[in-house]
Amino acid sequence: MQKTPTDRALVASIHDVSPSTRLQTDRILEDLGKLGCAKTSLLVIPDHHRRGRISADAGFCDWLKARLAEGHEAVLHGYFHLRGQKAEDGLAKKLVTQSYTAGEGEFFDLPREEAARLLQDGLNEFAALEIVPKGFIAPAWLLGREAEQAVREAGFGYTTRIATVVDFQTGTTHQSRSLVWSVRARWRRVCSLAWNRTLFLATKSSPLLRIGIHPPDWDHRAIWSQILSLTRAVLADREAMTYQQWLLRQRSRP
Ligand SMILES: [Zn+2]
Repeated sequence: MQKTPTDRALVASIHDVSPSTRLQTDRILEDLGKLGCAKTSLLVIPDHHRRGRISADAGFCDWLKARLAEGHEAVLHGYFHLRGQKAEDGLAKKLVTQSYTAGEGEFFDLPREEAARLLQDGLNEFAALEIVPKGFIAPAWLLGREAEQAVREAGFGYTTRIATVVDFQTGTTHQSRSLVWSVRARWRRVCSLAWNRTLFLATKSSPLLRIGIHPPDWDHRAIWSQILSLTRAVLADREAMTYQQWLLRQRSRP
């Protein structure tokens, strides 16, 4: 009989899903699927780096709908996934927005009205595909205070940050640090391998284990290999599911 653990979960999320990363995303899904990780949260960018809206790409629309039919979840992930550098940015902001995220922290310090507008544009893109996302996850997990308010007001049920899953519906913040790799430079890759090994051991006992995957991770053999071996290990006693499914379970608990 198949073992179905109910209180230990794995949520694998694939960041930066868009027409320009669709082929890599397919490779990731195929590899995860072979290990039994058949449900993931797909973080979809409506207009990735202004290269074109998802609704304008019929092939992508069909592809995404087919993934949802298989049980994957589509999460709104920013709008352009770009943050314009601002003249008044001080050193601390530059460190966060340029060094840590390579200029992609789109929702890091957006005023509420601007965030609300981008969220509505994103929802419109999803609506064109007849998708109503339950979650919003900011690029690089950087969601400022005003932008978070806009996310709540737009009716999203949850968001996640690097160390938390925030359930807007119940007001609960679940602690769970995501594994995530940085592949932009060799030293980052070396650090990532060591850090994620340590983090994996430290988070082994937590009910929710999160693995955050970016398409370029698959271009680096050592990273690819570690992500798959950790996924294989955790699936021995964890069930793979989407963020939305995990939250539904938490909400139904007595
Ligand atoms: Zn991203």
